Amino acid sequence: MQPNQLLQRHDSCLWSYKQIAAYCLIGVILLTVQSLHAANGKLEVTFFDVGQGDAILVTCPDGNHHMLIDSGDTRYPDSSKHFRAFLNAAFTNKPHHLDVVVASHEHADHIGSMQWVLTNYQVNTYVDNGDTADTTMFANLLTERRKQERAGKLNYIKGNENSFSEVDFCPDVKMEIFLPWATVPSLSDQNDRSVAVRLDFKTNSFLFVGDIEGEAEQVMLNQFTDKQRALLDVDVLKVGHHGSDTSSREGFIMAVSPQIAVISCGKKGTGTNERYKHPRLSTMRHFDDWFKNNPPTVKATAAKIPAYDADTGAWKQQTRPSGMWLTVKDGTVTVTSDGKELKVNTVPTPN
Ligand SMILES: [Zn+2]
Repeated sequence: MQPNQLLQRHDSCLWSYKQIAAYCLIGVILLTVQSLHAANGKLEVTFFDVGQGDAILVTCPDGNHHMLIDSGDTRYPDSSKHFRAFLNAAFTNKPHHLDVVVASHEHADHIGSMQWVLTNYQVNTYVDNGDTADTTMFANLLTERRKQERAGKLNYIKGNENSFSEVDFCPDVKMEIFLPWATVPSLSDQNDRSVAVRLDFKTNSFLFVGDIEGEAEQVMLNQFTDKQRALLDVDVLKVGHHGSDTSSREGFIMAVSPQIAVISCGKKGTGTNERYKHPRLSTMRHFDDWFKNNPPTVKATAAKIPAYDADTGAWKQQTRPSGMWLTVKDGTVTVTSDGKELKVNTVPTPN
C-alpha cells in the first residue's frame, strides 16, 4: 500500500467517524424531540390523507400508546404508499407497536393495508365487526390475524358479540366500541355494520363511525336507550362514509353536536372517487347549517370545496362549513386535545 493510499484510507476512516457522530447527534435530537413530544400530555388524533378511504392514528397523552382505525385503500392512487409512509414516519425511532387496531368494516378502502399492518407492526388487540368478505384481501388478512392469534401474539375482539363494550387502550383515555348491527342484526348493509369507536379524554370526546349510513343512524337515534344515545354526543366527529349523502342525516348531526367534523375522502374524478363522488353537497349543507347555528370555537380556513350535487348530477364549489376539515383539501389533519381545549393542525400532502 502506498503512503498516499494509506492517508486516503485514514481520511475516509476519519470522515466515517465524523459521519457516525453526526448521525448520532441527529438521532439524539430526534429522540429528544420525541421524548418531549411523548411527555406533552395531549391526546393526538391524526387523520392521514389516504385519498378515498380512512386511516386514523390515535396517540395517547403518555406518548406510548397508539391505536389505528382503518388502513387506507389499495385501489385509489398512492393510498397504500402514502398510508405506509405516514404510519412509518409516526413510528420513527419507536418500536412498531400498536396497542389497538380497529378495522371498522371489511371494505377495501378501510382494510387496504391491514395485512401489511399486522405483519409489520406488533398489534396487541385487533377489533373488527365480526363480518367476513369474499375477497382475497380479506382472506389474506384473516389468515394473518388467525396465525397471530394462535401464536398468542394478538388478542381478537369480535365486535358484534356485544352491542357495547369497553376496550383497554391507555391510561386517562376511555375507549368504547358499539355496533348498531349488534343491536339490530337485520341491518344488512355492510357500511351500516361498521364498528363505532368513542374516545373520552377528560372533558373532550371523539366519535369515529366508519361508513355508517342512515339506517344505522336511525337505529342509534331510535333504538338506543337515553344513556346509550348519549355516547353519540361528542366534540369531534369522523364523518360517516366519506361525506356521502347516505350518512349524516340532520337528526344524527344534532345528536352528535360536533365542534369539529372531519371528512376523509378522495379528489373529484380521481380513482375510486370517480364513481363514488364524495363529498356530497347535501351533506356539506347539513354541516353548514349546524355550524352556522352552533359556531365552533376552532374554525377552519375559509375555502371552496368541490362537492357533488346528486340532484343535478354536477359538481359544485361549496364553501366549507366553519368547523369542518377535509383530507382532500387539508391533507393530513391532526386534532389535539389537552383534555379541555381542541386544536387542529394540517399538513398538505405533497403531489
Ligand atoms: Zn369507506
